[in-house]
Amino acid sequence: MEIFNSMTRRKEEFVPIEEGKVRMYACGPTVYNLIHVGNARPIILFDVLRRYLEYRGYDVTFVQNFTDVDDKIIKRANEEGISSQEVAEKYIQEYFTDAQGLGVRPATIHPRATETMDEIIDLVQTLVDKGYAYPVPSGDVYYRTLKFKGYGKLSHQPIEDLMSGARIDVNDEKENPLDFALWKAAKPGEPAWDSPWGKGRPGWHIECSAMNRKYLGKTIDIHCGGEDLQFPHHENEIAQSEAANDAPFVHYWMHNGFLNIDNKKMSKSQGNFFTVRDAAQVYGYEPIRLFMLSAHYRTPLNYSAESLQQAQAALDRLYSARDNLTFLAENGGEDGPNQAKQAVLDEAGTYRERFDAAMDDDFNTADAVSVLFELVRAANRAVAPEQKPTKAGAADLLKLIGEFTDVLGLLYARKEESLDDQVEALIAQRQAARVAKNWAEADRIRDELKGMGIILKDTKQGVQWKKE
Ligand code: AMP
Ligand code: ZN
Repeated sequence: MEIFNSMTRRKEEFVPIEEGKVRMYACGPTVYNLIHVGNARPIILFDVLRRYLEYRGYDVTFVQNFTDVDDKIIKRANEEGISSQEVAEKYIQEYFTDAQGLGVRPATIHPRATETMDEIIDLVQTLVDKGYAYPVPSGDVYYRTLKFKGYGKLSHQPIEDLMSGARIDVNDEKENPLDFALWKAAKPGEPAWDSPWGKGRPGWHIECSAMNRKYLGKTIDIHCGGEDLQFPHHENEIAQSEAANDAPFVHYWMHNGFLNIDNKKMSKSQGNFFTVRDAAQVYGYEPIRLFMLSAHYRTPLNYSAESLQQAQAALDRLYSARDNLTFLAENGGEDGPNQAKQAVLDEAGTYRERFDAAMDDDFNTADAVSVLFELVRAANRAVAPEQKPTKAGAADLLKLIGEFTDVLGLLYARKEESLDDQVEALIAQRQAARVAKNWAEADRIRDELKGMGIILKDTKQGVQWKKE
């Protein structure tokens, strides 16, 4: 399995630190409003990464944090006249609503900054003790960036370029413009915690270093996030963690490309965004997921109504194939020769090899999705009525499709349809009427079912039905 490592900028064979185990971390949302479709891209992709690692037999510990103390949360709390904690709590719940809608499994652990305060303060103290950080009279604590030799190694920027790009702000308490806050002294009306430097709250970067160390250890396998987080956020995480722990921080860095709209990054600050909630109202959640998987995670992806509609249509094809195979697995012929089904199953090894090869190649979900749809087309042909499909044949095909869709996290939104007693009874009455050649009665029952939103299809294997 190869992963493109943003640190080395090439694909590398994946070798876990501990055999059979993967420790991965993704920077999670700052919880002050609903997530937009751009935010959903990393959430969906890293969920698939985790599912694929599990499919390959790894025991995965996946940590995704919530930043629940931040300027934006405080601002929102003041606007709404509620506490920061209430704002964070509200949007954490909203996050889970959207994540569940998108078929994203909860991480193994979802730590919050406010619940990691002791570890954050410990880490800042270690950095101060080692000379990598310094408190200033106002009560802030800054990271001494120039002391960390590898600064800039992830973003591949020489320190001189970073220096010239750094904003010289009014804060003359910093030794160097590149120094960043680990701890911020309390301001009136802001949430604050006791610390050796007085009351205050942590900076954003230190939270992730502390949560990584607390839940995953000093060195982790995979750290992920959007490419906008490479600098300064991830660069700063490296500086903090490696200086404090005297150990390499991360073996593989993975960064997703942007979700664009009219070829510009979808972002809250630009105002060119759709919330996941709104998009889901129009298209449904699951098409958003399939749309995201239709591109490789490192390439830019353009959001458009057309792509979402295409994803809807593709999902419909997937669901019809599943429903048809489910029906045949119950109502197909008894086992016997079914040449076409056998041909697909003989090729199944090839489908799986191609699916795995796509995912092994730096998680190429675009190719993996294509393999899935090719398999679905072949399966549809194999169980066409003239092939006299058998129960076992349909069940085998269904199982293989199910394994791929489980990795991609698809086919979760629509439940398999089951006849309720009333519909079942009506279908039986109609069959009885047909046997008695009472066509008027059979048609009347068909219309009655139609009125209930049930469409019937007479096939050689019996009556198939679906909801309108
Ligand atoms: P933010 O809300 O900007 O803090 O972003 C939260 C997460 O979403 C980060 O991992 C970002 O990199 C990611 N993100 C934000 N906007 C986009 C976008 N347009 N495309 C892809 N990822 C994004
Ligand atoms: Zn982070």
